[in-house]
Amino acid sequence: MDFNDTPEEAAFRAAARAWLDANAQRLQPGERQPGLEGRTEPGAVKRAQEWQAKKADAGWACITWPKEYGGRGATAIQSVIWNQEESRYKTPPAIFAIGQGMLGPTIMVHGSDAQKQRYLKPMLRGEEIWCQLFSEPGAGSDLAGLRTTAVRDGDDWVLNGQKIWTTGAQYSKWGMIVCRTDPTADKHRGITYFIVDMQSPGIAIRPIKQINGFSAFNEVFFTDVRVADANRVGDVNDGWRGALTTLMNERHAIGAGAQGGPDFGDLLRLAKETLIDGRPAFEDRAVRQRLARFYTRLKGLQYTAYRTQTALSRGQTPGPESSIGKLVGAPLRQEIASFAIDLQGAAGAMLDRRLAPEEGAWQLAYLGAPGLRLAGGTDEILRNIIAERVLGLPPEIRADKGLPFKDIPTGPKNQ
Ligand SMILES: Cc1cc2nc3c(=O)[nH]c(=O)nc-3n(C[C@H](O)[C@H](O)[C@H](O)COP(=O)(O)OP(=O)(O)OC[C@H]3O[C@@H](n4cnc5c(N)ncnc54)[C@H](O)[C@@H]3O)c2cc1C
Repeated sequence: MDFNDTPEEAAFRAAARAWLDANAQRLQPGERQPGLEGRTEPGAVKRAQEWQAKKADAGWACITWPKEYGGRGATAIQSVIWNQEESRYKTPPAIFAIGQGMLGPTIMVHGSDAQKQRYLKPMLRGEEIWCQLFSEPGAGSDLAGLRTTAVRDGDDWVLNGQKIWTTGAQYSKWGMIVCRTDPTADKHRGITYFIVDMQSPGIAIRPIKQINGFSAFNEVFFTDVRVADANRVGDVNDGWRGALTTLMNERHAIGAGAQGGPDFGDLLRLAKETLIDGRPAFEDRAVRQRLARFYTRLKGLQYTAYRTQTALSRGQTPGPESSIGKLVGAPLRQEIASFAIDLQGAAGAMLDRRLAPEEGAWQLAYLGAPGLRLAGGTDEILRNIIAERVLGLPPEIRADKGLPFKDIPTGPKNQ
């Protein structure tokens, strides 16, 4: 493990910092980036688009994308450095992450030349926002169980069904969707991948009210929605390959972007400022023990992240530590937020940002943590991955293996 930048990395960091200094405001002590919750607030999309265009004009947008698509051809470690530096400045919520981090790279690998020409530049500049239409009420962890259908009709396909948990559908111009196109094939084989215009007739978007009061994601219903065959990504019935590319990039994007919200420094400050029986909570033995335990676990995570960073710096592909980071980090974040809310006493029960301590930052972190434990692979799925691919334990029994999709039992009526 090497904690220092190489001379080239240090030069890159200095260039990034110089541009950010000239174009954005540095966060002051105690200030933090607006959380992703802010993306549905009035004006948030416009502010994010303006910042993205500014970065694009200066060559700092999507820096790992190849130059031919408007990127900088930067390395993975340069991307880590850029993210570290940008997170020290006041910038709008990352509303383009799904398109730029997951869907754009899928188009680069599986899309036609015409699709690359048409879609990638406006995506990079943030002019067109994208959403990911994968999950369905009966297909999340088991994504290949999806049931939204696409049926060929002349030069078009006709889509029917329902997607759910679609982040940003309400402000997206385009969506990328996986549909069932051959129910007689086994479940991974009869799937096709499309680009769909979110303003098409037959699409109904219903925001879902979340526990934190925001509505970042939606249900999306498709009734006879027409999609041109030119908007098919990859071959008919071969969409699972494209879906895997998207999911691989999703794990990476979630690992890279898991920052924001209050940190250990904020918790320490809270413990020093909160009084228990007239004395700072920080002086209480039980509180100090909890703080010490959080600190050691956070340090463990930090050093694990450095191992990933060192691998990237040496041009290697990071190993299973990326899954471990999310599996350990998300529940730890939830525990820390829960402890902070306990420290706040009765005030901890308030969520109204005008009234709650620290504008409700700990409450939002607490209520957002369960989502982090689901998105991009639930805790249980990550454990399965570690068990099977890292520890070499026997794989889960898959009762639907080799069966045509239409014959997979779905409930009592089929048994
Ligand atoms: C914040 C957030 C944003 C999201 N954004 C999007 C988006 O933009 N687009 C999109 O398509 N989807 C999105 N999702 C959906 C996400 O991909 C799914 O929530 C995830 O895949 C889990 O699927 P599920 O919710 O259907 O849960 P299920 O798969 O139904 O799981 C339910 C429970 O069963 C457990 N379980 C399932 N299978 C197994 C197994 N084999 N072994 C052991 N336990 C198992 C799970 O761990 C979980 O606890 C988002 C989710 C969140 C939380």
